Amino acid sequence: MSTNTKKLLVAGNWKMNNSLDEAVSLIQNIKSTIDSNPDVLQKADFLICPSYVHLAPVAQIMDGGSVTLGAQDCSFDDDGAHTGDVSVQMLKDLGCEMVIVGHSERRHNCGEGSDVVAQKAMKAHNDGLISIICVGETLEQRESGDTFSVVLQQLEESIPKSAIVKNIVIAYEPVWAIGTGKVASVEDVKVMHETIAHYLKEKLDMGGAIRILYGGSVKPENANDLSCIEHVDGFLIGGASLKADSFVGIAQNI
Ligand code: PEP
Repeated sequence: MSTNTKKLLVAGNWKMNNSLDEAVSLIQNIKSTIDSNPDVLQKADFLICPSYVHLAPVAQIMDGGSVTLGAQDCSFDDDGAHTGDVSVQMLKDLGCEMVIVGHSERRHNCGEGSDVVAQKAMKAHNDGLISIICVGETLEQRESGDTFSVVLQQLEESIPKSAIVKNIVIAYEPVWAIGTGKVASVEDVKVMHETIAHYLKEKLDMGGAIRILYGGSVKPENANDLSCIEHVDGFLIGGASLKADSFVGIAQNI
């Protein structure tokens, strides 16, 4: 999948959800929902990021079709003594084209700082995967007026030197909006996406062509309003990606 296009990217992050049977039937349902509504492919590219252990069976069902495969994280190293980690090459072997790095759940639950996020993104780039680099402020940071400085600092420290327009996507995900049902207001999203777009344009050659996703309680009901905001080039979706109707419905409603 190319990133230097502003066709919307609808990306599902399944997180640590689904049994094997559920993952298989979910991808089957997503595929058949897209197949019976082929117009959605004019509106959006689709990406699914299952857990590591479900990548192979999900890839087998996707079979190179309308949905791209991605992973939720990767190691910063090639191989060796990293118990529990999975390398970019292993992800590529299974058919992944993209990888999420710096999701707030990894930043906050696993103590990953932007330096580690940058190392992971660089490994992804060097080995040929597109990185989706996540940034976003906590409620506390927002309430203390630090939203923009936090996000700009995360961008500055998380985007490695290996980044070019074709190998990165940015996801702005206010932490307080993830999985809470609270969506950032249209005005908040507009100002933040404008800020990120300006930063990318200054920072990278052709930076204006980089997709910027919004993430945080996106569902079919709010997708259209959010997609109309300038510099919103798609969505990173948690909860609503766990049902075929709501996941594909996000693109249908745009
Ligand atoms: C996410 O996990 O990145 C996310 C945005 O989750 P949700 O859509 O459930 O808020």
